This record gives sequence, C-alpha cells and structure tokens, in this order.
Amino acid sequence: MSVEESTKNEDACAQAFEGSPFHAALGRALERRGLSLAQFCPAGDTLTRRVLEEYGAMFVAEGVALPDACVLESEEAVGRFQREAGWRSEDIDGAVVELQGPAMEALLAAREDAAYTGLRVTPRGGSEAGRRSFADSLRLWRSRCDPALEHWCAEGRLDGAEAERLRVLSLREQVSAVLELERGGIFFSKYFDKSILQSVAAPGASQHLAMLAFDVAEFQNARVGALLARHGWFQTVLSDLPHFTYLGLAERDLPSRGLRRVESDGQTFWVPDMESRQ
Ligand SMILES: [Zn+2]
Repeated sequence: MSVEESTKNEDACAQAFEGSPFHAALGRALERRGLSLAQFCPAGDTLTRRVLEEYGAMFVAEGVALPDACVLESEEAVGRFQREAGWRSEDIDGAVVELQGPAMEALLAAREDAAYTGLRVTPRGGSEAGRRSFADSLRLWRSRCDPALEHWCAEGRLDGAEAERLRVLSLREQVSAVLELERGGIFFSKYFDKSILQSVAAPGASQHLAMLAFDVAEFQNARVGALLARHGWFQTVLSDLPHFTYLGLAERDLPSRGLRRVESDGQTFWVPDMESRQ
C-alpha cells in the first residue's frame, strides 16, 4: 500500500469513527466527567482509535472510576489512578483478586448466584486475573514485541538497525511503530499472524490496570457468561475469550452506550460500534 493510500485509509477510518454510535456515546460519557472527546481522542490519532476499538468498552461503564486518558503511559500514572480509584481485595479460590469496589461486589454476587445452580466462576491465571500493574502490562507487551523483532529480522523483513531503533523508542512511539509495521503485514502477535493488539493490550491500555477486568476460568460455559451479564460483567474484547469487563449496566442498555452485540465462538460479546451511521 502506498503512503498516499494508507493516509487516505486513515482519513476514512477517522471519519467513520466520528459518525459512529460509540463515538457519540463516549463523547456523552466524557462530558459527564468534564472531559472533552477532542482531548481524549485527538483527530488523526490512530493509536488511540485502535486502542478504543479493541478495549474501549470500559469507558462507557457506570458507577466506577475511569482513567482520564485512553492509555496510562507510566508506572506513576497507573499508580496514581489505582490509588485514587481504590480497590477491594478478596481471596477467590486461593488467589488474591483485586478489583474496584463495585466490580468486586458484582462479581461476588454472581459467584453466589452461580453456586445456587451448581456453576462456578473462578479466576484464570491466579492474581493476574484481576488488577495488574504497569510493569505486568509492560512485561506482557515485551513478551510479544521482542520475539517478533527477532523473528522478522531472521526472516529478512527487518534489518538489525531498524529493530534496534524501534526497541529504544518511547513506549507510545513504539506502539505506533509496531502498528505501522503491521499495516505492511509484519505482525507482532505470538505466532506473527495477526495484530499484537489481538494478543496483548498496548502497555497502559489494559482494562486490568483500571481494575475493571476479570479473567474467568469457565469462560467457555455460556451459562456462566449469561450469569455474569446479569451482574454487569460482559465480554468486550473479541480476541480475548476469558476476559470479562465490568460495565455496571444492564445488557438492554448497552446499545444506547454505543456497544454492539457480536456472537462469536458461541459466546456473546459487546464491543464498541465504530461504524459510521452518517
Ligand atoms: Zn483479561
């Protein structure tokens, strides 16, 4: 694809997002918090747009604290957000899980409901199922990024100097550079066959940093999904099956928050509706 074509594509994407139900709902949600959409997601900022497309559902959640930016760019920013939002710790099946208070309450209520019907809702991956630190998010990113740089150098698609330049970029620049390479088919997921964002969150963008995500071991059981949905927990990241997001909303209210229902692998997802209606 030529530079001109890719710029044209980007413009088309930006315009599509601007006329979309999610754009409108996000604007309303930010306004209630005294924030502006133009600041949160500047026009032409493809990184923010991509991050919102993959993980943005949480920004229309109710009754919880939300980050002021789409990406929390440092350990310090994450620490400050988490301290101000506060969290509740619970021992759930031997793992200490930490979530924002309302999210934890809803999860415990869902577990109680589950127990009545002989179902279980348990953490997948121990304590990492809930709150994570910026360092966790960075480690996950590197676990994909570093092997991919080696792989593409070995394949001759990248030269050593280019890979080295990318390694020392600031985090935000690095994420943008990776997404740019992916547009040319140089993918950074675990098996180098799809976008890194479908494999791990961009550092600082994970819903686990906002303490509104919980990875569920029983994610394949549709009854567990339906039960969690009744308590405000939904699957919102298409490529991440065990991952549930606390939105604090009833399912019937999700379309009015700019989310669209997607059935995939026998499961129900609610993802940002970024298609323009204009
Ligand atoms: Zn997760």
